[in-house]
Amino acid sequence: MAVPEGASCYFCLDEGPDEEGEPLVRDCSCRGDSAGFAHLSCIVHYAEHKSTLEANSPAFTTSWEDCPNCKQPYQNKLSLDLASAFVSFAEVTYGCPENSKWDKINVMHSLRSKIIILNNIMHSKSLYSSQDSGMLKVECETLIKKLLSMVERMKKDEKMDGWVHMPRTSFEYNFCEMIGVFEAFGYGCFGASMSLDKTEESNNTSIKYFEKARIIYNLFGKKKKSKEMESHIEIFRARSAKSNEDDTNVRATDIFEKLRINYETKLELHGLTSVVTMAAGLDYAKVLLNYNHGIEAERIVMKLVTESCRVHGPEHNCTKSAEELLEVCKERYVMVLPYRGNLFQALRYENDGEICVLTGPLAEPRKADDERMLQVASDLIRPTFGCPVICHGLVSASHLNGKVGHVRAFHKNSRLAVHFEDKSQKPASVKADNLRIAFELPTKG
Ligand SMILES: [Zn+2]
Ligand SMILES: [Zn+2]
Repeated sequence: MAVPEGASCYFCLDEGPDEEGEPLVRDCSCRGDSAGFAHLSCIVHYAEHKSTLEANSPAFTTSWEDCPNCKQPYQNKLSLDLASAFVSFAEVTYGCPENSKWDKINVMHSLRSKIIILNNIMHSKSLYSSQDSGMLKVECETLIKKLLSMVERMKKDEKMDGWVHMPRTSFEYNFCEMIGVFEAFGYGCFGASMSLDKTEESNNTSIKYFEKARIIYNLFGKKKKSKEMESHIEIFRARSAKSNEDDTNVRATDIFEKLRINYETKLELHGLTSVVTMAAGLDYAKVLLNYNHGIEAERIVMKLVTESCRVHGPEHNCTKSAEELLEVCKERYVMVLPYRGNLFQALRYENDGEICVLTGPLAEPRKADDERMLQVASDLIRPTFGCPVICHGLVSASHLNGKVGHVRAFHKNSRLAVHFEDKSQKPASVKADNLRIAFELPTKG
């Protein structure tokens, strides 16, 4: 990240690197030439101070996770550096064996915070690049084990057996609930971490851990969290079933449904612009796209790009990954008649739509150097399955003009089966002449 000339740390107000050469950093949703730059050590001092005042309250973790300036989470290396500093601070301040149970809970909060960061980083790496996240995974699982063993010790030391049956308003019940939520969190994250191995075996282990977490959340009536675990379990079950069965169509709808529920659950739990919801939205959109539901995918990704840009800014990881996927969503694939087995990407119309500009033929994977641009008469172009199209020039079915849909099948006499975005509109068999490629989706409503 380039630090603009004259930027200064908003804690100590010094410009540029400090005497020890510590550079200014910024990796949150702050934007512009001056907002939000700071020395890591200044953020750490500030967070130490804040969390000492806020020990044993939800705000204990906030100053380590969220930038006080833009109120959004830190990301990437900065978030990890701060999470590590948080754990060190909490362990030194509150981690002695003779410390009280409330002190130990502070340590558990810091472990939880770092586990979340590691999980976020690992999952975004595995989604958007193939960098080795093995080291992070080992560290994450070590921290989870540490947290779970603290939970076990706490249960024993406080003799918590049976507390869950105390009246809901009692101190015992509430304490038991708090420890239970830590435990469920640990199991849930273990499941998420195991899932990175992407083997049949790790898949099943993930399911087991999500189950454990779900049971505990259920026990304490945490409906949303238990629903979240439920949707993870369903996705993993659908995935292992998919690799076992040939009935891909049934499975595809199954997977859409699970991923959609997962996205909607996250939306409800964390809000649209949270990193977790965005990742779930992109996962859902990718599957939609792979199964030729391009319009739906493009609509979702467009919304994610706009919202992420508004809240996190154009340089943010969330925005970049959403934009990358939007590019893919906007690719329009076509064939040229007579069909010789080649696919092309349509780029735009020229001459009032008489000519379509293409690039191709497309190889798998694409090699930009081997592709060339060509101009083809539009009546020789056939959109492929999933390509968004708009009806025009229909006379007897004029109500369909301007309606967008995608191609689902080829019929006789140059007709194509079109399924409309507007589900109240029945699929129709439309002549190729009456269809144009929708390079931009019309705004809804
Ligand atoms: Zn500073
Ligand atoms: Zn910020």
